Amino acid sequence: MAANMTDLVPGFRRKAEQLLKRCRQRGIEMRPYFTLRTPFAQAKLWRQSRSIEEIREKVGELRDGGADFLAYCLESVGPQHGDHVTNAPPGFSWHQWGEAMDCFWFVDGKTEWSTTKRIDGLNGYRVYAEEATDLGLNAGGLWSSLKDWPHVQFRSASNPGNIFGLREIDAKMKERFGG
Ligand SMILES: [Zn+2]
Repeated sequence: MAANMTDLVPGFRRKAEQLLKRCRQRGIEMRPYFTLRTPFAQAKLWRQSRSIEEIREKVGELRDGGADFLAYCLESVGPQHGDHVTNAPPGFSWHQWGEAMDCFWFVDGKTEWSTTKRIDGLNGYRVYAEEATDLGLNAGGLWSSLKDWPHVQFRSASNPGNIFGLREIDAKMKERFGG
């Protein structure tokens, strides 16, 4: 589990720390388990639920768009198997930008994943999403489709592709992870 808060961009890190503090003040302990995810790790997650045809198509689309590094990320990780967990190809999750964090609810020394169970009237994930929103963060638990309760991100744009062009994303990822 890679959850180093120092991997986050400073503006987001400050708010993320405030968020955890506000949760604690309401008796909810949320523990970060994911902050930065490399484009290679994202490529594994993206590939794991997709057919080889879909993967080839995406690699071609990235190459055609001038995103050779992202295409390389997707190809180089090899075959993966698992559930559908993300819509974001490499570079397209804010986790690659240090602008997202995932936390679990920690109750009586154990990880609690239930988003409906209440303790003293409160569910940790609901409090977390509510406080995140109040701090101006974007809470995955409040998304209309494919809800992601552990996830909060810095920007309201659902993914970097809404703000940056493909070449820009490719350049940014290559600069940070291509060395
Ligand atoms: Zn996340």
